Amino acid sequence: MRRSVTLIPGDGIGQSVTDAACRVLDATGVDLEWDRHLVGAPALERGAESPLPESVLASIREHGLALKGPVATPSGSGFRSVNVALRRELDLFAQVRPCRSRRSTPGLRTADIDVVVVRETTEDLYSGIEYASGEPATRELIAWLTTHGAAVHPDAGISIKPISGSASRRMLDFAFSWARDQGRRRVTIVHKATVMRATDGLFVTTAREVSREHPGIDVDERQVDLTAALLVARPEELDVLVMPNQYGDILSDVAAAMIGGVGLAPGANYGDAVAMFEPAHGTAPRIADRGIANPVATILSGVLLLRHIGEADAADRVERAVDAVLADGERVTYDLRPGRDLSGAATTSEMTDAIIERL
Ligand code: ATP
Repeated sequence: MRRSVTLIPGDGIGQSVTDAACRVLDATGVDLEWDRHLVGAPALERGAESPLPESVLASIREHGLALKGPVATPSGSGFRSVNVALRRELDLFAQVRPCRSRRSTPGLRTADIDVVVVRETTEDLYSGIEYASGEPATRELIAWLTTHGAAVHPDAGISIKPISGSASRRMLDFAFSWARDQGRRRVTIVHKATVMRATDGLFVTTAREVSREHPGIDVDERQVDLTAALLVARPEELDVLVMPNQYGDILSDVAAAMIGGVGLAPGANYGDAVAMFEPAHGTAPRIADRGIANPVATILSGVLLLRHIGEADAADRVERAVDAVLADGERVTYDLRPGRDLSGAATTSEMTDAIIERL
């Protein structure tokens, strides 16, 4: 059955890495129809009314599926972040970033790691509830806090961290179900509840409740700082890590670095009705337009998409092809070469060709 997928190339290296992923997915024989849409600066340049046009949201809601490249937010567009707005509009509440070391390319240090970071994406310090230093509203807030016993410097800026039981429960329920469906053995709840009892404490209490509804999966709890240390020192002890928004943002980048860089780390954002797949990396402006970006993170995001729509065989084939090309270490992009050397490195499309040949 033909499946329609909204394709958002994004900007910077986005166009070339999404082209690569579409070529690989098409080469599997799975019948996908790409419904291409622009967001961010490329959309504004073509006369769109906003960096996040309504037609893009309508397309994703209709298909329930999107593959997205990295998107930068044009300054002065009235948007704090197009990526955050996209997640909010589509009610994508859980982000999954699997990080598995795949091979030993000469010169690239990677740990033996198979970790999945799942983060809540609607709340926490990234909610955008910000009070700038010196503003009248900030002074009012500080005055109110002071009368309630808080010691806040009068010139402080304030970012607020809301975490609710309801949003946590929704994400945790998804995370436990996802872990079970993927055959994972343990879920670790990551927090700093010793310091932030009102927010992280609530997250942990909710996690305990939700874990009781998902028997058969081991659960443990770890503080975020100790988890970061363990991720670096003994990653083989970790499996699925579930946490609030900000810790997940940071630890997923640590995990990506542990497997050899953001160029290899895929990602997926899930809501009740929509799933959107995108690489962990950004637009990489310094290498944009040079055709040298590593396409693997976006191709593996495509693998997550294939699994999501039940195309497990095609997903396995793409993963094996990627693994084979990485293990060869010959036709890989510069970031996977010893010393990140451009000479002898494959371009984005040459590495993509190598993967397609291995399918
Ligand atoms: P953003 O704010 O959009 O996340 P950033 O500059 O903070 O952007 P990235 O764009 O992810 O972060 O870039 C981080 C580093 O990784 C840069 O040195 C970039 O060139 C490199 N990089 C990112 N993606 C790739 C890729 N696909 N292939 C090769 N190098 C990459």
